[in-house]
Amino acid sequence: MTHRTVAIGGNWKMNLSRREAVELARAVAASLSDLEAPVQVTLYPPFPYLIPVGEALAGSPVRLGAQDLHPAASGAYTGEVSAAMLRDIGVVSVLTGHSERRHDIGETPEFVGRKTHAALSAGLETVLCVGELLEEREVGRTEEIVIAQLDAGLSGVTADLASRLIIAYEPVWAIGTGRTARPGDAQAVHAAIRSWVREQMGDRVAASLRIEYGGSVKPATAPGLASEPDIDGFLVGGASLSADDFHEIIRAAVAARSPVSP
Ligand code: PEP
Repeated sequence: MTHRTVAIGGNWKMNLSRREAVELARAVAASLSDLEAPVQVTLYPPFPYLIPVGEALAGSPVRLGAQDLHPAASGAYTGEVSAAMLRDIGVVSVLTGHSERRHDIGETPEFVGRKTHAALSAGLETVLCVGELLEEREVGRTEEIVIAQLDAGLSGVTADLASRLIIAYEPVWAIGTGRTARPGDAQAVHAAIRSWVREQMGDRVAASLRIEYGGSVKPATAPGLASEPDIDGFLVGGASLSADDFHEIIRAAVAARSPVSP
């Protein structure tokens, strides 16, 4: 039995109206009351809805997260948002390295590293996303690609900064496609990530670091994935837009980590 608290993120991407976002946040907050074990739930709404969603979550245990940030502290970066601005409005967690930003927007591994370092240094929990393309998996390069993303993404990150780090393993071929990694395949990558963390940052960080799985997680696939020893929660995209599906996924993750009654 691991001591790591299950961590679940809902990445809403570029979806919902302001009213829908506030309603969904309220529904997620209300749905957590029946959970018996501790769980850390974070919502990542689009930037314009951070403040109203934060207001809707006030007084609930659900945390406010942002989908992106710029590594600079301030200055001439039109359209960008800094870690300090996010903290100023109550954001506690941020995503970096999401595959949609690496592959659609063209963020380089080095830029992802600068963002991750800036976010951790500013006191934000930071969820660094890593994952391979289908053609990379097919030629057996999954571990090599993921380790290279960790090397660049966590350059200069000390064990101290890593106390605020979460890593999300998100195979690119599974994101938004309806294809989920098989639990054993995902577990193998999670174990490789944890060994890399152990080598680079020591046993204490490796033992406490949460590694989330992301990629078309649904209520039906969550229980199998959550029962793997190195899968400590999920980063959920599409299914987090339904309060019921998101709740089922949270319940499955919590149940997999709860002691079974004799
Ligand atoms: C994501 O956006 O991080 C994600 C995993 O999306 P989906 O669950 O829709 O595949």
